[in-house]
Amino acid sequence: MTPVLEARHLTRHFGAIRAVDDVSFALAPGELLALIGPNGAGKSTCFNMAMGQLAPSSGQVLLEGRDITGWPARRIWRAGVGRTFQITATYASMRVIENVQMACLSHHRRTFSLIPRAHRLYRDEAMALLETVGMGAQAERHAAILAYGDLKRLELAMALAHAPRLLLMDEPTAGMAPGERAALMELVAGIVAERGTAVLFTEHDMDVVFGHAQRIMVMNRGQIIADGTPQAIRGDARVREVYLGG
Ligand code: ADP
Ligand code: MG
Repeated sequence: MTPVLEARHLTRHFGAIRAVDDVSFALAPGELLALIGPNGAGKSTCFNMAMGQLAPSSGQVLLEGRDITGWPARRIWRAGVGRTFQITATYASMRVIENVQMACLSHHRRTFSLIPRAHRLYRDEAMALLETVGMGAQAERHAAILAYGDLKRLELAMALAHAPRLLLMDEPTAGMAPGERAALMELVAGIVAERGTAVLFTEHDMDVVFGHAQRIMVMNRGQIIADGTPQAIRGDARVREVYLGG
């Protein structure tokens, strides 16, 4: 089967720093893959290259077999890649459902000149997405007053508006309470199971990683030092040394 996402010898330097150093991996459809490693390991740099936010120094990114290296971010998400950000990107002054409608508008390539009547467009589609993330009851609230965990779920609904075959989530549970983290990851695992969406996520909470990932890649100093099942990673001596702390 063609991988959803493939990185081939991906490398990115910042001056003398090798943030990402010859990284290769493949992600299968419907796979829930965690990328872990200490701060500065190169995780976000990998994400930014996969999303077209950052040009690689060398190497390639393939989406469903197609070379997307150097594509602008907008073209990549239109090709089927959704992303949630470490900092939430919602329109605080708008209602919850309007945020999702905006995402639907952009997915359907409607121009922003339609914004004045966005409140009528894609309401049903937006409502269905809010129900998918368990926020149907909050549709009419203003995004500004949402609790942090709900904002993250709203952001996920907005990413799903693009019907992605791949979701990239950089620290999706950062700033959440432990209970909220597990709830968000259960939601993501459900989306993977129901829609067959492949997910690549970074996470510092090892309970979340080992509780939800099907496969784990470990980065250290720009390189992938281990790649395997949670069980294999837990038993990997090098991983314990550099990351899991004995
Ligand atoms: P992680 O997400 O694993 O914490 P990053 O990918 O953010 O790691 O960073 C990897 C390395 O690259 C770090 O040494 C970081 O300081 C450096 N780095 C990341 N982005 C930039 C940038 N825009 N300019 C210079 N150095 C950067
Ligand atoms: Mg990071």
